[in-house]
Amino acid sequence: MSTNSTIEWTECTWNPITGCKKVSTGCKNCYAERMAKRLKAMGNANYVNGFQLALHNHSLQIPFRWKKPRHIFVNSMSDLFHEDVPLDFIKKVFEVIKQANWHTYQILTKRSECLLQLDSTLHWANNTWMGVSIENSDYTYRLDHLRLTNAALKFISFEPLLGPISKLNLKGINWVIVGCESGPRARPTQIEWVRLVRDQCHKAKVPFFLKQLKNDKGKLIKMPLLDNKRWDEMPKH
Ligand code: SF4
Repeated sequence: MSTNSTIEWTECTWNPITGCKKVSTGCKNCYAERMAKRLKAMGNANYVNGFQLALHNHSLQIPFRWKKPRHIFVNSMSDLFHEDVPLDFIKKVFEVIKQANWHTYQILTKRSECLLQLDSTLHWANNTWMGVSIENSDYTYRLDHLRLTNAALKFISFEPLLGPISKLNLKGINWVIVGCESGPRARPTQIEWVRLVRDQCHKAKVPFFLKQLKNDKGKLIKMPLLDNKRWDEMPKH
């Protein structure tokens, strides 16, 4: 599936890989899993096996068809650094990124160990934004792995933010996104946890992007105000 996206910090998604396996508490209510089940039920050919990992060679060329530059979220329905994705296929994705260089590509992983392990074998084009997802303070080591990579632009997605995270080392980090969980059984994000991340970004001069929060009535608000301000800062690139 490759489509315009409703995700506030990107413009469209490109999914040469679909399906994944849960690795940490942030995965519990995985949106991609819910979506994959729905797409399978709708008969979408890329989801015949639902949320099982699948590589789609036929989807590799899609960015070339988009003539206008876009911000592209790579593998919103999977994790590019999933243990079972062959290195050759990851390299093919990176080759498209390098060649279709009028776009900006945003990659997010929870598998920072695999990312770091493969880092030196990958060609990091300047139009690649590499990010890690961190849900609570148990997983800040992912940030340390990301920092060691050769990606030109590095970012963190604290989404869903599930606990307070202090003592963040934001050295070498170019952008931070925060959001709460959505969907049925969504776990809460406290506003103080968001402020704690925002304040550390402010201190370290790292752009901060607040994607979504729930209001007092439990309604999901996209791009909410926090302390009377809309936080839509983007990295300087
Ligand atoms: S790593 Fe991402 S795509 Fe994979 S199960 Fe976890 S939340 Fe879902």
